[in-house]
Amino acid sequence: MGKILKSTISDPTLFISPEMKEDIDTINHPKRRYRWINQPIWDYSTHFKKNMRSPTFLSDRDKTNRRKLIEALVAPSSSDALKGLGYKILQCGPSNQCHSPLCNYCRTKMQNKYEERALKYFGTSDHGDLHFLTILDDVTYTPLEVMRDCQERLNSRLRNRLRCSLYKKAISVFGAFEIDIKKPLLETQCQEQAELLSQYGMSEISGPAFMPHMHLIVDLKGMDSNAFRAHLRERFSKPKQITLSPFRQKNTIAENLRTTARYCFKFRYQFADNILRARPAYGKRYDDDLLRLYAVLIQQLKSENGVISFEFRHNLIF
Ligand SMILES: [Zn+2]
Repeated sequence: MGKILKSTISDPTLFISPEMKEDIDTINHPKRRYRWINQPIWDYSTHFKKNMRSPTFLSDRDKTNRRKLIEALVAPSSSDALKGLGYKILQCGPSNQCHSPLCNYCRTKMQNKYEERALKYFGTSDHGDLHFLTILDDVTYTPLEVMRDCQERLNSRLRNRLRCSLYKKAISVFGAFEIDIKKPLLETQCQEQAELLSQYGMSEISGPAFMPHMHLIVDLKGMDSNAFRAHLRERFSKPKQITLSPFRQKNTIAENLRTTARYCFKFRYQFADNILRARPAYGKRYDDDLLRLYAVLIQQLKSENGVISFEFRHNLIF
């Protein structure tokens, strides 16, 4: 039969409502057997530049992630708004974009846009001045009530309060607000991590905790990174609350900017362990209830302005 890879989706029609069944099509692609009629078959070579990691949505595995999300959104127990969102994501394609950060296709488009913007803002910066900054905020168990406050708190601490007369140069930052979900403490494997998270308010042993944080590209414009770190520590003093790391000099500026911009705007819906780790680790996917809650949260934060409400861009005057 030649080289036909087995699809992980045995029957894609299982999770489609009857009126959607006509949208299922089979395709002749080495890694996929099915697609929705409106869903494009991405051409790797034209959509993605060289040296970029392969986009996961080309594989059946990612189709399964997408399927899980849509399944959760359109489930009978779901609200009408979420069902509507699920069908919009299901039917999303070039001529019919849903503009949700939860959608693989639209998220990739957004990441492309932010990549270009990062290149525009920092493409001519001194490579040694460019850093990647992550700032953590306290966890919450009631994300829908408090998330906007968390966002504003992080923004204002950075924007309004970090001032120092010693340095007159403006430091440029650009990135995004993001929400990680942490597993309940009992499921948290690493004792050290559990203790650290408890300092951020993660105390309940059941139920997931939501951790707001920001990922930013920083241009220090000649400022010493240790001095900048010390200023940040005055406002963000918990252990591991800020991580400031220089761009890898073995990569080009463009490569670093592209990778970092995509990371800042990734809107991932998996449990994330990014404390005490050099690289974040993504664990199992959220269950259906958590996927729905996360979807409400993302849509609420997205608001009428689209994803712009996740962005943070500012010149910090020191
Ligand atoms: Zn979409």
